[in-house]
Amino acid sequence: MPLPRARVVTLNAALGPLDYRVPDGMAVEPGSVVIAPLGPRQLVGVAWEAERLPSEEVGDNRLRPLAGLIDVPVIPAPLRRLCEWTADYYLSPLASVLRMVLPSSSALEGSRQLTEYRLTGERPGRLTPQRTQALDRLEGRQGTIRELAAHAEVSDAVLRGLVNSGALERIQVEADQPLSCPDPDFAPPKLSEDQQAAANSLVASIGGGFDPVLLDGITGSGKTEVYFEAVAEAVREGRQVLVLLPEIALTQPFLKRFAARFGCEPTAWHSDLRSSQRRRAWRGIASGEAKVVVGARSALFLPYANLGLIVVDEAHEASFKQEDGVQYHARDVAVMRARFEDIPVILSSATPALETRHMVETGRYRELQLRERHAGAQLPSLTALDLTADPPPRGRWIAPQLVTEIEANLATGEQSLLFLNRRGFAPLTLCRTCGHRFQCPNCTAWMVEHRLMRRLACHHCGLVIPQPEACPECGDKDSLVACGPGVERIADEVQALFPDARTAIVTSDTIWSPVRAAEFVRQMEEGEIDIVVGTQLVTKGYHFPNLTLVGVIDADLGLSGGDLRAAERTFQQISQVAGRAGRGGKPGRVLVQTHQPDAPVIAALVSGDTEQFVAAETESRQEAGMPPFGRLAAIVVSAEDKEEAEQTANRIGRRAPQVEGMAVYGPAPAPLAMLRGRHRFRLLVHARRSLDVQDVIRKWLGGVEWSAKVRVAVDVDPYSF
Ligand code: ADP
Ligand code: ZN
Repeated sequence: MPLPRARVVTLNAALGPLDYRVPDGMAVEPGSVVIAPLGPRQLVGVAWEAERLPSEEVGDNRLRPLAGLIDVPVIPAPLRRLCEWTADYYLSPLASVLRMVLPSSSALEGSRQLTEYRLTGERPGRLTPQRTQALDRLEGRQGTIRELAAHAEVSDAVLRGLVNSGALERIQVEADQPLSCPDPDFAPPKLSEDQQAAANSLVASIGGGFDPVLLDGITGSGKTEVYFEAVAEAVREGRQVLVLLPEIALTQPFLKRFAARFGCEPTAWHSDLRSSQRRRAWRGIASGEAKVVVGARSALFLPYANLGLIVVDEAHEASFKQEDGVQYHARDVAVMRARFEDIPVILSSATPALETRHMVETGRYRELQLRERHAGAQLPSLTALDLTADPPPRGRWIAPQLVTEIEANLATGEQSLLFLNRRGFAPLTLCRTCGHRFQCPNCTAWMVEHRLMRRLACHHCGLVIPQPEACPECGDKDSLVACGPGVERIADEVQALFPDARTAIVTSDTIWSPVRAAEFVRQMEEGEIDIVVGTQLVTKGYHFPNLTLVGVIDADLGLSGGDLRAAERTFQQISQVAGRAGRGGKPGRVLVQTHQPDAPVIAALVSGDTEQFVAAETESRQEAGMPPFGRLAAIVVSAEDKEEAEQTANRIGRRAPQVEGMAVYGPAPAPLAMLRGRHRFRLLVHARRSLDVQDVIRKWLGGVEWSAKVRVAVDVDPYSF
C-alpha cells in the first residue's frame, strides 16, 4: 500500500531512521529504495514499516519530501525481517546490515554503458618494475582503472601510462546483458543408491517450507552431486538458489563443475567482481532472472526475488564468520534467512561443526548421511609421524619417512601434496648479531618473509616492506636469519631433495587470480606437476585422481594457543586435506607430522573414530558450559592511544551488570593486543544458553559513554578468542 509518509533507514550507520513526506505521485511502500535528502546531501535508503522502528515522531508540517524513488524492485519483507534479526542478534546498526543488501551503487544507477580496460597483449618497450607488476597481475582481467590499479597494487598513473603506450585498451561494456539460464536436465549423473536416497529426500523438500538439513558425507562421497539435484528441482520450479562457498578461490572450479552439470555457469557474487559484473548480478538477483547464485558470505543479504533453496557448502568453515563490521556467521544467518523465506537450507560438510551436530542431536535439523566414496574409492589411510622419534635433519622440516613416500610416488608417477598452513618463506626474521626481530609496527605480529616477492609482510594489516639487506638495529649485514618454515621454504626443501621433480607452490601469493587457479588445475590434471606445496587453499574442493600422497608438515600448528576450537579445527583441517588423497582408482596415504602423536585429535584422525572424538569434545564443552551449551560474546575496546583504550575497557568492566547465569572476564589485552595501529582490550561474556545476552549487553553498553576516538565492537558467538 502506498504510504503518505515514510520512515527511511539510510545506509549511514551514524543515523537512526528518518521520516519523510512522500510527494504526490510517488508510490512508496515498505521496502522501496528511495533517495532521502539530509541537509545538502542525498542519501540512499529503504522505506520501512514505521511501527517496527521506533523513532521520534515528527509533525507532518515539518517533514521534508523524499527526493526520489529508485527504479529497482522493492526489498522483500522476509529480507527486511532478516535484516532486523541480524542487527538485533549481532548488535549492529540496521544501516550496516542494509549496506550488504545494497552494496553496489552502480546497480542503482540508470546507466547501461560502462567503460573498462584490459590488456592488449602488447608489451611496451620501457618496463619499470611497477609496469611489469601491473602486466603480470592483470593477465586475464578487466575493469575500471581504479579496480585494476587496486588489484595490481600500483597507482592509477602507472595504468594510464600503460594505456598511452598501448598495453591496455579501453572498451565499452553493455551492463545489462541477459544472464544465462541453467538447464536442470543438461547432464544429470547416475547416482548410487545412497546418493539417490539423499537426493530424493532433498528434492522432496523443495517448495515445502523451512527445512534445515545437514548433508553429512565423507570427502569424495558426492555431496555436491547430491545437492545439485535439489538445485535442479528448485530451478525446475522456477525458484532461485543460493550456494554459499567459503572461499573466493573455490568459485572458479565450482563454476566449471556447475556448467558441466547444468550447461552454463551460474551467477557469481564475491568481493572480487568488477562493478559492471556486480551491477548485472545484483539486478538479475533482484529481478529473479539470476536463477542460481554462487557466492561468498556477502551473497546472503542480496534481495532475491524468489529464493527457493540455500546451500552452504563446506558449512564447517571458519571463513563463514565475518570478522569486522557486522560480525555475523554466514552459516547461522543462512539458516535464519531460510526460516524467514520459509524454504529449505542444506548445510553440506564432511566434518560438521559441533554446533551443527548439536542441532541435529536436539532434533532441530535433520541429517542425511553419505558413508562411501564414489565409485568404490577408499578413504586414505592416515599415519602419524612422531617427530620426536624420527625428526628431520637440522634445518629441515620433512621427516625421513615422508621423504621415502614422496620418492615412491615420484617413481610411480603419482602426485603428492605437502600441506602447511603458513604462507611465505619464514614466519620470523631475526638478527643473529643483536637479536633484533622484525615486528609489524601496527600489530602484535612478526613480519613474515615472502621470498618469492622479496619482501616482508604483516598478515594482519597488510603492511609490506622490501626484504632488508642489513639489520636496522645494529647495521650488520649477512646476520639476518629466517626462523621456522612457511610453504615457500618447504618448496625449497623439496627442490633440494628432488631436483628433478616438478614442484608448485599454491598460496594466495601464487594463485592470485581465477586464471592462475584454472592454470594450476590444468597442470595438475595433465600431470605437469609432481609435488604441490600449499596452504589451506588446496585443502578444499579440488579433485585430482592421480594425487595419492598427502603430507601434513605440522599438525601441531593449530593446537598451540589452545582456544576452544583448536582441536576441532585441527580435526576438520586435516580431514579436509587428507580427503584430497586417493580420490581416483588408486588408494591414498596420509602422513601427519606431529610432536604429540598421542593427542586425542591425532589419535582420532589415525583411528578414523570420528564419533569418539566428537563425543569427547562435546562432553568437555558441555562440562564447561561452552558453545553450543553456553553462549559467548566478546567486547573489544580499541583506540590508537593505549591508555584511552584501557581506561574505557576498565570503565565498561566496572559497569558490568550482575546477572544470574552470566560471568564477565577481563578486561585483558586482546589476543592481538595491537591491530592496525589500535590497542585492543577485551571483555569476555560467558552466559548460559537461555540468557538473552544481547539484551543485557545492549543495556549495559547503552549506559556507558566513551570518546569518539575509542571503538567498542561486540562479537556475538566469536569464532576464535
Ligand atoms: P564431496 O563434495 O562429497 O567431496 P563430490 O561431489 O565432489 O564429493 O564428488 C567427488 C567426485 O566424484 C567428483 O569428481 C564427482 O564428480 C564424482 N562423483 C560423485 N558422485 C558421482 C556420480 N554419481 N556419478 C559420477 N561422478 C560422481
Ligand atoms: Zn600489521
